[in-house]
Formats: sequence, structure tokens, C-alpha cells
Amino acid sequence: MAYPQRYVIDASIVGTPDGEKAKAACKVGAVDLEMQEETVAIKVGAVIWATGWKPYDAAKIQPYGYDRFANVITSLEFERLADPHGPTGGKLLRPSDGKEAKDIAFIQCAGSRDENHLRHCSRICCMASLKQTQYVREAWGEGENGGKSTVYYIDIRAIDRLEDFCQKVQKDATVRFVKSKVAKIVEDKQGNPVAHGVDTEGYHRYATTHDLIVLAVGMEPEANGIRLPDDILLDSSGFIEGCKGIDEGMFGAGAASSPLDVNRSVQSATAAALRAIKVIHKTAATETP
Ligand SMILES: Cc1cc2nc3c(=O)[nH]c(=O)nc-3n(C[C@H](O)[C@H](O)[C@H](O)COP(=O)(O)OP(=O)(O)OC[C@H]3O[C@@H](n4cnc5c(N)ncnc54)[C@H](O)[C@@H]3O)c2cc1C
Repeated sequence: MAYPQRYVIDASIVGTPDGEKAKAACKVGAVDLEMQEETVAIKVGAVIWATGWKPYDAAKIQPYGYDRFANVITSLEFERLADPHGPTGGKLLRPSDGKEAKDIAFIQCAGSRDENHLRHCSRICCMASLKQTQYVREAWGEGENGGKSTVYYIDIRAIDRLEDFCQKVQKDATVRFVKSKVAKIVEDKQGNPVAHGVDTEGYHRYATTHDLIVLAVGMEPEANGIRLPDDILLDSSGFIEGCKGIDEGMFGAGAASSPLDVNRSVQSATAAALRAIKVIHKTAATETP
């Protein structure tokens, strides 16, 4: 239920009979199929960039075969799969054949903390995967026919106040932790993904078959690749740190400024709003005769 309950027209239906049907269905006449894009100039005292994050493109991690194997999905896609309002009504069914996905692997740092992809730690992925192991438990229970999660990790980075939750999951009989960076994923003849690597706590090679593999993909700033004002200061990963002049009134907030969970995004947004108010008040005071 994280999404606002509002209607949006899919631009691809404009100019088709479906567009006309959508227009006719809206009782209050809010659908305007002729609406054009426009550029609006607004004078403001401060700007807060709360443009958020986007998932790292999993297809770039070639050894994991996200673009080749239907049963290798991202953590975001898994979140959607578990959503009661999602495509399967919240049932954990795998994409290739609709089979119940009971044995699920989570691969941490998929694209994060990696010189070839994102250098930074995306911070929220460990907690997100630990949370998602509990979706598996809730869906299938424990025992012989129950659910099974395997978390492949470099090290688990729980965010301070959530340490208790982390410990709870570590004690969960349905969850197995394997300290290893998975080297590659292949697919067997039945379409099951098989994780290959070396367990670094014992140096055992493994080739483990799962029903579904979830890549805990890293967080990139949404604004990466967008031309931002020259005064904006970015860190080495493209997150917005602020702007050059302290009083110049441009701030980053939430995941646009750093990989943050919702709680910390709200804190960061509150801080940015207060700083913006301060700049506006200062400007107003100097402009008052
Ligand atoms: C798999 C997964 C599970 C997670 N689970 C949890 C969880 O259980 N609990 C938790 O606390 N956190 C969780 N997180 C982290 C959470 O998603 C982030 O903390 C949160 O989304 C950050 O909020 P935000 O508003 O800063 O950014 P976003 O949620 O990314 O929002 C940014 C908004 O800005 C809009 N936008 C972008 N560019 C523009 C533009 N140019 N103009 C206008 N609008 C624009 C976007 O459309 C978007 O609506 C999870 C993350 C992942 C990947």
C-alpha cells in the first residue's frame, strides 16, 4: 500500500480506442487526451531535490543472467510479487511457469560495493532482503514442505535500530546464510536457476539449485544522467550533497541525497525543508526595506 491511490493515463493508449474508453469512463471529465507537454517557469526561494532512487540495471551484471533467465528477478520485482495487489495477488509464483517458489535465494550486493558497477554500499538492501525472507516464511511456513530462503552475502549490514530484527531472522530455521559472493548463475534443464560460488567460511564450492533467485540490486540516484544545475554538488556516486554556496537554497533530500530507508528519508526531508525555510526567511529579511 505504498503507492498513492490515484489514476494515471498510460501515454501509449492516447490516440487509440482504449484512450477514448478511458475518457468516457471518467465521470468527472478529468481525462484530457489532447494535453500537451509544457515548460513552466516558476520563481522560487529554494529547491529541494527529492527525486529519489532507481534500481541498478541488473542486466549489466552479466554472470547473473537477469536478461537471460526468467527465474532470476530483482528485489523490486520480488516486492511486487509479494504484494497482495500485485500480478499474482501476492502468491510467490515463479515467472517462467507459475510454479510455487518455495526455495528462494537472495543475492546481496548485486551491483553494489563493486568496482565494476556501483562502488557504494546501497545500505537498505540487507534489511530489504531480510524482510523478504519473512515473506517466504509467511507464505509457506516452515517444515519439510515449507519455505526456504538462502541469503548469499559478503557481510550483513543491518541499520542500527533494526539489529534486533536482523538477529531474529538469523535465528529463523527457514533462513540459511551463506557467506559468499555468488560467481555466476546458470539454468538447469527444468528452468531452475543454479547459484555457483565458493563459501568463504570453509572454502567449499557449491552449485545450489533454487526455484527463484532474487538479486538485491543497488540503489542509484534517479537524477544520474540528468543535467542538473552547475552549482549542485554531487558525491562520487552521483548523490546530491547540496550546492556550492551555503545560502543558495538547493538541497538534496531522501534517497536523492544518499541510499536511505523510509524512516531516514523522512528525517532527511525534514532537515532539508527546515534549511530551505531558513534560506527563504533570510532572503526575505534582506529584501525587506
Ligand atoms: C526491494 C526494496 C525494499 C525496500 N523496503 C523498504 C522497507 O521495507 N522499509 C523502508 O524503510 N525502506 C525500504 N526500501 C527503501 C525505500 O524504497 C526508500 O527509502 C524510499 O523509497 C526513499 O524515498 P524517497 O522519497 O527519497 O525516494 P523515492 O521513493 O524514489 O521517491 C522519489 C519520487 O520522486 C519522483 N521523481 C523523480 N524524478 C523526478 C522529477 N524529475 N520530477 C518530479 N518527480 C520526480 C519519483 O517518481 C518518485 O515518486 C526498500 C527498497 C528496496 C529496493
